[in-house]
Amino acid sequence: MSGWDYMEIYWVKLQAIREETPEINTYYFECPPGFDWEAGAHVHLALEGFNAGEKPNRALVRHMSISTIVSEGMVGITTRVKADCSEFKARLRQLAIGEKVALFKLNHHLVLHRENKRLYFLSSGVGLASFRPLVLDYLADTSNIEQLTMLHVTTQSDALFTDLLGDATSEQINSRIVYGRNAYYPAVTDLAVDQDGIYYIVGSDEFLHETIALLTKEGISPNQIMIDKHATRQEAFLTKA
Ligand SMILES: Cc1cc2nc3c(=O)[nH]c(=O)nc-3n(C[C@H](O)[C@H](O)[C@H](O)COP(=O)(O)OP(=O)(O)OC[C@H]3O[C@@H](n4cnc5c(N)ncnc54)[C@H](O)[C@@H]3O)c2cc1C
Repeated sequence: MSGWDYMEIYWVKLQAIREETPEINTYYFECPPGFDWEAGAHVHLALEGFNAGEKPNRALVRHMSISTIVSEGMVGITTRVKADCSEFKARLRQLAIGEKVALFKLNHHLVLHRENKRLYFLSSGVGLASFRPLVLDYLADTSNIEQLTMLHVTTQSDALFTDLLGDATSEQINSRIVYGRNAYYPAVTDLAVDQDGIYYIVGSDEFLHETIALLTKEGISPNQIMIDKHATRQEAFLTKA
């Protein structure tokens, strides 16, 4: 028996690719029967050959957030594919429509808290992809959420999901895009005036550490901060702050 037999692996075909920005693509894969996810979920995405041996070839496996919701009918993965990239990304970039990848270990750390509080989504770069399904969920049902505020830091060339998350204020969402960390940190300080809000952060580990440190300094407690990490890793981020 191989080490893989215990785990359900879904081999799914690439159906479409959308160029979000010159460096960021969304890859849409078919949605296999039985593969249901909730907004905020992530999955292991693996390329052919990853399980050829007894141990997984980690160079061919990455965690990826699912940037679509189930009703869209496809599993969307949004990622940066620069020219100077890893073997994984280089192979992903060359993937043709109809070719297959493996999806497995669906997991879920980010959930919408419906506790009549204001929610704050803080993201950097492609991290915004993790929030897209949660925003769609919120727009479909705003019950028991007082307000959603989004603060996204990016570069001019990287503006992602502007249709959904434009630099606009609507009745349901306050959204703000800032360009560069110099604008981002003062904006976080302004948001942290709400001592009762729930703060979600998605981005690089460094981005998480720095944002958590700032929120904590402003009086936000670790249990008001949500990050896309397994419980065993959350502590390292939320207690070091
Ligand atoms: C829960 C969770 C959810 C995640 N969701 C997403 C998601 O939705 N989208 C997403 O994009 N990522 C997501 N990630 C991160 C993802 O797993 C990868 O770590 C990330 O995309 C970087 O991929 P990469 O290592 O293939 O490097 P790349 O993106 O290729 O590169 C990262 C940097 O390293 C350099 N680099 C890497 N390899 C080489 C090389 N061989 N030679 C030269 N330079 C190199 C690149 O120039 C670049 O600056 C998630 C992670 C977690 C834990």
